[in-house]
Amino acid sequence: MATRMLPVFDARPATIAARPQVSDELAEFTTDEVALPSFHVWTLGCQMNHSDSEEMAGALLAAGCAQTPSLESAELIVINSCAIREAAEQKVIGRMGHLARLRAANPALRVVLTGCSVRSDNTHVLHKRYPQVDLFLRPDEEPELTARLGLAGATSVGRMAAPAAQRNSAISAWLPIIYGCDKTCTYCIVPFSRGPERSRPFDEVINEARSLAAAGYREVTLLGQNVNSYGHDLPVEDRFGHIRRARDMGRNIDLDGRPDIAELLGAIDSLRTADVAPAISRVRFVTSHPWDLSDRLIGAMAESSSVCEHLHLPVQSGNDAVLRRMGRQYTIDAYLGLVEKLRAAVPGISLTTDVIVGFCGETDSQFENTLALLREVRFETVFAAAFSVRPGTPAARLDDDVPRAEKKRRLQALLGIQEGIGREINDAWVGRTTEVLVDQVRPPSSHDGGGPRVAGRNRNNKLVHFDGSPELLGRLVDVRIERAGPYALVGSVAR
Ligand code: SF4
Repeated sequence: MATRMLPVFDARPATIAARPQVSDELAEFTTDEVALPSFHVWTLGCQMNHSDSEEMAGALLAAGCAQTPSLESAELIVINSCAIREAAEQKVIGRMGHLARLRAANPALRVVLTGCSVRSDNTHVLHKRYPQVDLFLRPDEEPELTARLGLAGATSVGRMAAPAAQRNSAISAWLPIIYGCDKTCTYCIVPFSRGPERSRPFDEVINEARSLAAAGYREVTLLGQNVNSYGHDLPVEDRFGHIRRARDMGRNIDLDGRPDIAELLGAIDSLRTADVAPAISRVRFVTSHPWDLSDRLIGAMAESSSVCEHLHLPVQSGNDAVLRRMGRQYTIDAYLGLVEKLRAAVPGISLTTDVIVGFCGETDSQFENTLALLREVRFETVFAAAFSVRPGTPAARLDDDVPRAEKKRRLQALLGIQEGIGREINDAWVGRTTEVLVDQVRPPSSHDGGGPRVAGRNRNNKLVHFDGSPELLGRLVDVRIERAGPYALVGSVAR
């Protein structure tokens, strides 16, 4: 039998030696062998990237490649990059020297770079910035990974015919529902790297949710850059005739007769076990653009018992003029209106947000508006960052006029205020009992008194630590909260 080498990779045929013996009767059905590189995927950035990496790892495993635990032991390195912040890109640039040394030790090593750093209009820059990379793939080209590596026709005995995501957790799963983004936030590179919105067909999402429930997943997070616009690009169907235009703010788009995220949440919630409990105990969704947060969606959150009482709703700034420059399409009044509706419909809901400080032209008093908003809304957590210009974005044409030191000062001021708010909110949990989905086991430490510790999140997305054995992994456990810090709660199993 001839060995067919990969057209792109010249890696050692590491997995061929491990290929299982084939019985004589089956031998005629085997295909040509290929040199299959062992691979490692290094993921930076958001949940969408982590979900994409799970899909790429699934495709490589399905092609017969073996996964390695580190960059150093791999013959194929896939870097899934993030371009939202300059610091994330610097991390990859900073690894080029290390990759050069790995390549010197193993000339067969090949490197693929994908994620939001790769766009169709910046290939000339990429080659200079990432000299150790052999192949650049835009995020929308990721499904072509194995084909572009010449692995598409590769088979190995016993592999699944259809690639499935190689999920890193057996407890919580990402479930992408929409790819790309149609928004025009001026600071963001995503619409340029991930392209326009493409919703996954309704039945495909529901079938995947059903499979995840059957596989024992306790928690599913619906994913997209803007999950709230799910469905507007899908065909009209009679069964969705009850869905009417559902946006209250800004430009309305025609949803008539198309599924929306509220319909998805309801359908997933209606998947039930024999004893009529939700087949998936917890459903979350991220990220929500405020402009597209419809009344139907708020209603679905209130009515679906599996949908968790938490929403991440990025606000970005507390000032309307800054929001306009950011292209965010809502006002602070409209945002506060949503907060009010959410709190009325879903009592006890926890809200988290993103903020950018020091955006182009942000004055001191505009920044103070953001601090005032934080004090008014009292978010549980704020993911804050100082603005950095992303080349290729509309904001790159604005004057980045807030000095670096001032951005840093504003960031520290904001984090200080938020730490106090977070601590007060967490203090209110002390003495209460909350349901925790255990998904982490921590090694015993003398700091914790030496016993085994586990951790997980409650429905409000609070991180909770408590004493417990690894057998609790994947279980829903009632925990009584005894102590609180600004970022996490500590308790013990409720009796
Ligand atoms: Fe970027 Fe705005 Fe789209 Fe989010 S909604 S991915 S910030 S353009």
